Amino acid sequence: MSAAMVELRGVRKSFGPLEVLRGVDLRVAPGEVTVILGPSGSGKSTLLRTVNHLEKVDSGSVSVDGELVGYRRSGDRLYELPEREILRQRTKIGFVFQNFNLFPHLTVHQNVTEAPLSAQRRPRAEVDALATRLLERVGLSDKAHSYPRKLSGGQQQRVAIARALALEPKVILFDEPTSALDPELVGEVLDVVKGLAGSGTTMIVVTHEVGFAREVADTVVFMDEGRIVERGTPAEVLDAPRHERTRLFLSKVL
Ligand code: ADP
Ligand code: MG
Repeated sequence: MSAAMVELRGVRKSFGPLEVLRGVDLRVAPGEVTVILGPSGSGKSTLLRTVNHLEKVDSGSVSVDGELVGYRRSGDRLYELPEREILRQRTKIGFVFQNFNLFPHLTVHQNVTEAPLSAQRRPRAEVDALATRLLERVGLSDKAHSYPRKLSGGQQQRVAIARALALEPKVILFDEPTSALDPELVGEVLDVVKGLAGSGTTMIVVTHEVGFAREVADTVVFMDEGRIVERGTPAEVLDAPRHERTRLFLSKVL
């Protein structure tokens, strides 16, 4: 089996008495697009957040690009990495949130250049050129000097995608990137995500957009109550689900 780009093994996570992830195993190969579907509260966001150590796992492990996330192994013990090492690891993992989370006091161009300049300490001229290319790629060259509040939700989310790409991450995680958008703005964002999928970017996308999953996913995963209930190709999971819970979920969102 070839090396996974993202690998979760036996991941468990509780918040107080509530066990939110109950032993999750997931492998995502380089270039693979995995779409995660599942009802609200099933643990999808928590799962994504464990991938970049925004949530610490209680047990199990997460690796990205062959490197354990958040920990260093020594013998059979694990030691949490210092903050700066965790920040370095996060530069390999892009994250696009439901609510964009742009820096309101920075222009679109500055939002894209911020992390490569400060976290990666790359030269200004190179980063400026990169931002110009990325904003062109998401169709926002003309907004480079605008502030986020002047943009539509769809435009803000496209900036957030350009900002994630600016770190040249190994994988990009999307947590319901279109669910805060008015319906007429969903398409422009999904089109950008589709473009990335076509260019071989490794991605994990949590979404309720089943049509998008069908068109773009290599693998569809259905989660319920902190477990992966089933996984397969879009045809397998969407057209011939094996589990009743998957069928019930699909009957509600389709
Ligand atoms: P999903 O993204 O599938 O809707 P989440 O991963 O956001 O699910 O949440 C799963 C469960 O964990 C929910 O019941 C949620 O209320 C709970 N939860 C998530 N984050 C926290 C937290 N920081 N503290 C306490 N409970 C949390
Ligand atoms: Mg969520």
